[in-house]
Amino acid sequence: MAEVVSVRREGAVAVITVGSPPVNAMSQAMRQGLLDAFRQLGGDNTVGAVLLTCAGRTFISGADLKEFYTGVGEPGYHELFAVVEGFPRPVIAALFGTAMGAGVEIALACHYRCAAPGAKLGLPEITLGIILGAGGTQRLPRLIGAKAALDMILSAAPIDAAKAREQGIVDEIVQGDLIKGAIAYANRLIAAGAGPRPTAARSVDASGFDEAYIKTALAGAAKKWRGQQAPQRAVDAIRVSTQFPLPEGVKHERRISLEAEKSLESQALRHLFFAEREVARIPGLADSVKPQEIASAAIIGAGTMGRGIAICFADAGIPVQLIDTAADAVQRGLAAIRKIYDSSVAKGRLSGEQMQQRMASIRGGTDLQAVADVDLVVEAAFESMDVKKELFTKFDQLCRPGAVLATNTSTLDINVIAAMTQRPESVIGLHFFSPANVMRLLEIVRGAKTSPQVLATAVALAKKLRKVGVVVGVCYGFVGNRMMLEGYVREADQLLLEGATAQQIDRVIEGFGFAMGPFTMNDMAGNDIALKAREVPGVRDGKPRPYHEVIDTLARANQLGQKTGAGFYRYEPGSRTPLHNPATDAVIDKLAQELGIKRRDISDEEIEVRCVYPLINEGARILEEGIAYRSSDIDVIWTTGYGFPRFRGGPMFYADSLGLKQVGERMSELHRQHGHYWKPAALLEKLAASGQKFADWQVK
Ligand code: NAD
Repeated sequence: MAEVVSVRREGAVAVITVGSPPVNAMSQAMRQGLLDAFRQLGGDNTVGAVLLTCAGRTFISGADLKEFYTGVGEPGYHELFAVVEGFPRPVIAALFGTAMGAGVEIALACHYRCAAPGAKLGLPEITLGIILGAGGTQRLPRLIGAKAALDMILSAAPIDAAKAREQGIVDEIVQGDLIKGAIAYANRLIAAGAGPRPTAARSVDASGFDEAYIKTALAGAAKKWRGQQAPQRAVDAIRVSTQFPLPEGVKHERRISLEAEKSLESQALRHLFFAEREVARIPGLADSVKPQEIASAAIIGAGTMGRGIAICFADAGIPVQLIDTAADAVQRGLAAIRKIYDSSVAKGRLSGEQMQQRMASIRGGTDLQAVADVDLVVEAAFESMDVKKELFTKFDQLCRPGAVLATNTSTLDINVIAAMTQRPESVIGLHFFSPANVMRLLEIVRGAKTSPQVLATAVALAKKLRKVGVVVGVCYGFVGNRMMLEGYVREADQLLLEGATAQQIDRVIEGFGFAMGPFTMNDMAGNDIALKAREVPGVRDGKPRPYHEVIDTLARANQLGQKTGAGFYRYEPGSRTPLHNPATDAVIDKLAQELGIKRRDISDEEIEVRCVYPLINEGARILEEGIAYRSSDIDVIWTTGYGFPRFRGGPMFYADSLGLKQVGERMSELHRQHGHYWKPAALLEKLAASGQKFADWQVK
């Protein structure tokens, strides 16, 4: 194995190169190597300056995350950074690629920084519920001021070299060969007699970092980092930097960052970080199974979903044919896509030229023959089994052998659709979420006969489309919609009958941390959509009443939500603000009477438990049926596709954090009170009895 840290001389400049592929994460071995190198060079009077850089494609891109779990080994960050900062001659960092987290922190402990023009600097800690813990919150304000430091930390978005130069993090941008240019910069510093310039010795410019500004910054952060404490912790740490000299500030930072690291919020966010990577590991899928190349696609249906899906492919550089039954439907689809791209151009996210390229890669048409030569077909026509059956029969006749045949159905049985073809092994579900060009989640639905290669192709495609592709099995609603409809939304509807109001339930669920309460969501999606899905024969079998009583009654009365101006709420023309709808109260009263339900006051606590626990129970059933491979996949689905609060880690992690024994006991109590739908899942009871967690459970 190559050395993690190597030192060479370029005249008076000692060049320390760190090499720990692929991303040069800062590990214990790297810290040790650096400490040894700096100590040794410190005693060498022939060294005029030290240049710190990396091998490979990036500067140090963060900490070694393994140390979250093993603890930080010796030497620690502080010990190393103090030696770097206290080095008797100038230390210069040469930044390129993406310097992140601990990579930025060590650069801040250096005396000077130069960067390649394409370098990026980022502090993503807040996305993991933590704050910088190696002096970063104390040194950054000393370079760029407290206000700019807080902005950078709260945004978590990397800044480019030009911005870093403008702010004062980077001293020099090096055009051409970075190392050569950085050595020349070091030699200029030596020639000018510039000594070490420890960041610790600088004072913090606190102008603009006042209570009013902090309040505004935290209000913005509360929207972006819903429910998280980390933004407040970042404020606390930056405030410390304005009050204490660095050594004391670092002690405070350490306390705050350890608190953050131990918090449930951080455990939850780190769980999701690893879970989102784990989804691509498919049990039983051998590495030897290679994905097929998808270089062209046809999308059938230019409606809401087809448009968004077409954009995903065009954005990934895959040309698509967008097919609908009538020319005007195709034109409407293309016009809607153009509008979305126009707005991206207006926001500066896309250049006019890029937009033209992407529009040119989407060809509209009405002839289904277009599917003949493509590598992949994605069917996004009406949610009707007859329509899907007819289309897949045609795909089977028209598509070339080996083409992947996918459906975007939300609820229909993929195996029935696959059976319409002579090649069920090529059929798979690609369940995009609306708006498909924005939502990160893609449920990849493997049919009973889907081949391993087609599955591998879908997993690779998800990555190419920059989606989180989670493989699930076939059942009504797959994982996400099944848990939503059978658990959460059904129980929320039941609570209306028992006496809670839509406003109260939405408020409680939003307070829990969901992006939107269930009734605001239903009104937005349209109350007819789920009713239609429930009208498919077989769906209501074994489901005693009350079962989605209020929503189905509203849908049958054409109270569809925002699109008809009234649903659970009412809406003023042109407005999306939900207002109290007395007509819905009357519907609920009448239904409750018919069903013999006595109405009562319901506490917020009861609402929270009764909406969230059914998700856990349905999730447990999904696991025991083998519909999801692991509980963390369910957490990824619910946090990326359904607005479940990320800081709670997803429904299954949330249950694990409460303790399954406690969850199981409450579930049994609710079963005694409310019957049928509350029967605890066998897996939940089993794990609770043996003191285990969902996270301990593995698919056989
Ligand atoms: P939509 O009604 O907006 O669009 C469907 C389009 O398909 C229409 O333009 C229609 O003309 C066209 N179409 C119908 N039959 C066709 C055929 N035989 N050949 C070619 N085109 C045909 O519907 P949508 O909301 O885009 O939903 C499409 C599919 O995606 C459905 O299966 C739906 O369940 C699924 N889905 C929808 C959502 C959502 O939120 N809307 C989310 C996930 C999945």
